[in-house]
Amino acid sequence: MTLDWQSCSRARLSRDARFDGKFFIGVLSSGVYCRPICPARTANERNVRYYPSAAAAAEAGFRPCLRCRPECSPGTPAWIGTPNTVSRALRLIDESGLEDGGVEALAERLGVGARHLRRLFLRHLGATPTAVAQTRRLHFAKKLIDETSLPMTEVALASGFGSVRRFNAGIRKTYHRTPTQIRRIARHTAIQPENQYLFRLRFRPPYNWPGMLAFLAARATPGIEAVEQGRYRRSISLNGSRGYFEVSLDEENHALVVRVQFGDPRLLFFVIERIRAMFDLNADWAAIVPGLRSDPVLVERVKAHPGLRVPGCWSGFELATRAILGQQITVKGATALSGRIVRTFGEPFSAAHNLTHLFPPPEVLANADLASIGLPKARAETIRAVARAVCDGRISFEGIVEVNAFLGRLIEIPGIGKWTAQYVAMRALREPDAFPSGDLGLLRALGLDSSRELERRAEAWRPWRAYAAMYLWSMASESRVRGSKLVPSEARASVEENASGRGLSIFV
Ligand SMILES: [Zn+2]
Repeated sequence: MTLDWQSCSRARLSRDARFDGKFFIGVLSSGVYCRPICPARTANERNVRYYPSAAAAAEAGFRPCLRCRPECSPGTPAWIGTPNTVSRALRLIDESGLEDGGVEALAERLGVGARHLRRLFLRHLGATPTAVAQTRRLHFAKKLIDETSLPMTEVALASGFGSVRRFNAGIRKTYHRTPTQIRRIARHTAIQPENQYLFRLRFRPPYNWPGMLAFLAARATPGIEAVEQGRYRRSISLNGSRGYFEVSLDEENHALVVRVQFGDPRLLFFVIERIRAMFDLNADWAAIVPGLRSDPVLVERVKAHPGLRVPGCWSGFELATRAILGQQITVKGATALSGRIVRTFGEPFSAAHNLTHLFPPPEVLANADLASIGLPKARAETIRAVARAVCDGRISFEGIVEVNAFLGRLIEIPGIGKWTAQYVAMRALREPDAFPSGDLGLLRALGLDSSRELERRAEAWRPWRAYAAMYLWSMASESRVRGSKLVPSEARASVEENASGRGLSIFV
């Protein structure tokens, strides 16, 4: 673990929310483990032990604290001091759990031996992959017990226990209480309409919610996404089930409030993990900020608007389509086209609040006559080609282990250049160091002429260049709003991405 004992101790004694989820505290006298922000009286230093993950504390025999509820802590910032293999393994566990083959299958997908993977996990998280996956499952079950009124049989399935008996045994062993007893002591379980669930997803402050919303609002596809009154909403489908979710900020509790309506509770874990990734809730600002502060232009911006995150996406295919649409035109133009695609080819979906459709799946867009709704012929063909590649399995946006290999395959598709690939890496693959260096908006924000100059300057921001890009884009969009004189040049600034991968921006 990269945190030393002194910083853990300081963070614990001051209940510093910035460290929430970065380590856990085992209290010897009570036998429970806590988050650094636990409101309980702080134990004597002699009586505590520090662990790099909740699973490690659980493995050491501690039970989760019922007051600070470790299951509510923000996720482990997987990039801090952990090698790629561990962070990719954690991502795969989030996306699809530890599947049938267990650790062996996981290791095979990562191209390493199972023993090596176990060793890496023990070194960086203090627990094996199996223990990490089990703890996550248990934590999610606890959240469902506390925060929803889902029947226990469904909680058992939704959290991946397989059987109610195993679920009961797991909860009882960990909490020394039955699931029903735990629900009874949960402070507040508001009754939600059928198939609706309310979650509070914690983050480590600061979190720049206005910046996140502004970015999403400008790109919200009519019919499937909406931003209104400080809330983001969208329609979703996963494995044949449909629904929608709505996200707003609970600043006081350092959390996003997520209301999900979804037909199949068994998929809730994955729905929530996707939302967590989409809103970049695992980010660790304290680790990101030093690199950005070293830049003379970024430093002021970062100081004035701390905590800007990199927005992810609900679906990699949808995001890639949106990026291709944005290649030749302004954000506004691309948003309108995207809305037209949804209205023409999307599946009608009737939920409240202007969500009228679901985004069309690759099977539909693979053969869709996209030129008929006003798309340039080349763009239409590129979108169809990506859709076909997804349909025949050449490209998958899930479970990606080798990012460069994935991007290599993506770039082989005519009409996809470096810019689009980096943008997809940034938002769909959640690569914090992805960076579309040919972007005109980025160049302009810094007054540079070439992507080579920009790349040189961006070296200092590694491995967080995606965050730097967000800051530069937010500067570019603000200067456009301030000076109306800039508006006429907007369309000209968005030039086509050509074969060399140079240039365009859907952001200026
Ligand atoms: Zn506690």
